[in-house]
Order: sequence, then C-alpha cells, then structure tokens
Amino acid sequence: MKLPKIKGQYLYNFNISKISFMKVGGICDVLYIPYDINDLIYFIRNKDENIPITIIGNLSNTIVTDKGIRGICISLKNLSNIKILDNTIEVECGFNLNNFIQFCINNNISCCEQLYTIPGTIGGALAMNAGTPTFEIREVLENTKLLNISNCNIINIDSSKMMYRNGNLPNNYIAISCILKTKYKDSNNLKEIIKNIVKKRIETQPIYTNTCGSTFKNPIGYKAWQLIKESGCCGMQIGAARVSDKHCNFIINEGNATANDVIQLIQLIQEKVLKNTGILLEQEVKIIGEN
Ligand SMILES: Cc1cc2nc3c(=O)[nH]c(=O)nc-3n(C[C@H](O)[C@H](O)[C@H](O)COP(=O)(O)OP(=O)(O)OC[C@H]3O[C@@H](n4cnc5c(N)ncnc54)[C@H](O)[C@@H]3O)c2cc1C
Repeated sequence: MKLPKIKGQYLYNFNISKISFMKVGGICDVLYIPYDINDLIYFIRNKDENIPITIIGNLSNTIVTDKGIRGICISLKNLSNIKILDNTIEVECGFNLNNFIQFCINNNISCCEQLYTIPGTIGGALAMNAGTPTFEIREVLENTKLLNISNCNIINIDSSKMMYRNGNLPNNYIAISCILKTKYKDSNNLKEIIKNIVKKRIETQPIYTNTCGSTFKNPIGYKAWQLIKESGCCGMQIGAARVSDKHCNFIINEGNATANDVIQLIQLIQEKVLKNTGILLEQEVKIIGEN
C-alpha cells in the first residue's frame, strides 16, 4: 500500500487487541496517528482513494473482529488542543473525555462532569452521544466540526440529530473538534460531584475489567440489564467472554477471550432475551472489521 509522506505515525500490522478495552480484535493493516489537523488534511488529500478508512477513538465501545481491519485506521489521539472561550470551550476530538473533565474542573468550569468515568475520547462521545440516565453530551454541545474523508470539506453541525446513544454523525466524515457550553462553578463542588460518580460506578459496574460497558441499549420503558437477568443470562460464558454478575449488560473478557467469543455471546443473549420477553435488544457496542 502506497501512503503519503506525513508528519504523524504509521504503525503497520497493528494488533488492535493491545489497545481495545475488551482486549480482543485482530490486526489492522495500518494505524495512522496524525500529528495534527493539517497532517490529517494532507493525508486525506494525497491518499489513494480506494484504500478503506476506519476512524477509531479509544475503542471503549467497539469490538474489532478477529480478522481485523483492512486498509487504514485513523486514531486522533494527538489532536487534543483546547481553547477556553466565553461560556464555551473548544476541544479537539482526540482528547480523552476524563482528562477533559479534569481540565475543566481544574479551571472551575462545569461542562460535562456527569460523564466522568466514561472512558472514551471526545470524538467517541460525540459519535455515540455518550451519556448517563440523567445527562447526555448533546445537552452541552453547541456544534461539531467535521472533516470529509473524501474531499476535505469541513462542515459544522449542531446537536439536533443526536439521539439516545447515537450521535448520528453523517457518513464519510471525521469529527475533529467541537464547542461545548460551559458555566463557572466552584471546583470543590465539581470534585464532590465526580467523587460521587466514581463511588456509584464502582459499586454497580465492573469498570476495572476488560469490557466495553453496556452491550445493549435500553429499549424504551425497560432496562436492558433487567431483561438479560430475567432471561437467565447473568454469568453465561463463551470461551473467556462472560456476562458480568455485577452488571448483566456488561460482557467482560476474563483473560484470553477472542472477538468471536464476545460476538457469539452477544448473539446468544439477544436470542435468549427475544425468546423470553419478545424484545430484540439493540446493540450499543459497535462491531467492525472483516467477517
Ligand atoms: C467501563 C465502561 C463504562 C462505560 N460507560 C458508559 C456510559 O455510562 N455511558 C456511555 O454512553 N458509554 C459508556 N461506555 C461506552 C464508551 O466508553 C462510550 O461510548 C465512549 O463515548 C466511546 O468512545 P471511544 O473514543 O472509546 O469510541 P470508540 O469505541 O473508539 O468508537 C465508537 C464509535 O465512534 C466512532 N468515532 C470515534 N471517534 C470518532 C471521530 N472522531 N469521528 C467520527 N466517529 C468517531 C467510531 O467510528 C465508532 O463507530 C462505557 C465503556 C466502558 C468500557
């Protein structure tokens, strides 16, 4: 594969399981880490248009198949500039969400502290409309800047198309930065909020395991974990992939699970819940890569 000469990094035959939260997934041909936004634009302008492109964040909501990803994966992890403005903050999409929240708190800024402990990037949070039962990132989003991966056009969109766990970003675009609404607040008060969030998470979710968080979305009027529990799926296991006993909507990799183990377990839960309740659970976790 002939690739443009860039300032960033190309990592060839990169093993995705090294960075994915579930610690599964095959090889991607090339992982491209742009040096900055200009580097990314240069790459897009000069790449062979037939090479497939996949954009990844922290892979905290994504399972890559065991056969991996052909073409180029792009990680924006170097794109983490931040600018405090009047009543808003502009942040690039490679910024880690928790580090961003810490940055805001250190500057007495209230923005999306309720998302603390969600382990993705700003880009992933926008693409997924990351949230909790009481707050979603769209509530503080003024606009998102997107780069077209075919022709480098840049557009801005607002939050009006975002839905529950679906940022509804247009196809063929990478989110490169966004503007979020802010308020000034005492940082001690904000620290107290995140302390309580951490405490609640640790009590209720297996957050220090290899997992992608909630596997399924909550169907309207139901809790996915409850339907899974009632259908007898808690503790169910395929290979080393297991339905968490602590939170039945979490699948955990107990050691050497393959992506296939996880995918099969997802399908088995879906089948069992459908048979027991008549409800087809919709995946929140994304599955990408070769079949
Ligand atoms: C322990 C744990 C707890 C979690 N709890 C929650 C929770 O409470 N609430 C919640 O909403 N989620 C939760 N998650 C899921 C996950 O952390 C979020 O969905 C997060 O926002 C995903 O971000 P990411 O950077 O890891 O995205 P990835 O998993 O890498 O990608 C997710 C999707 O976003 C797309 N994407 C990523 N970056 C960009 C970009 N720059 N431009 C365009 N598309 C992009 C990818 O192509 C992919 O389709 C949890 C996960 C874990 C492991």
